[in-house]
Amino acid sequence: MKKKKKRKRIVFDKHHILPSSKNGSNERWNIAIIDKIKHNVYHQLFKNRTPVEIICYLVEYFWSGQWNYVELALEKKKSVRAFERSSK
Ligand SMILES: [Zn+2]
Repeated sequence: MKKKKKRKRIVFDKHHILPSSKNGSNERWNIAIIDKIKHNVYHQLFKNRTPVEIICYLVEYFWSGQWNYVELALEKKKSVRAFERSSK
């Protein structure tokens, strides 16, 4: 008898990008719909930090104060946006 493959059921959660505990609103731009398990892991790691506080935390705690990784990411984002604009 062939076994049915079990599909992993993903449960979604609403996440406030700017935490409601730090005056984050319930407006659509501030809400991300994410996997509930990943949401829990996110808050275990980052608590209720704002996005800017998280970036500072990553740089100071995990990247030995090396901001060049953030700068590289921003440059990459700029070049992707420029490419997207030029291909329209
Ligand atoms: Zn959340």
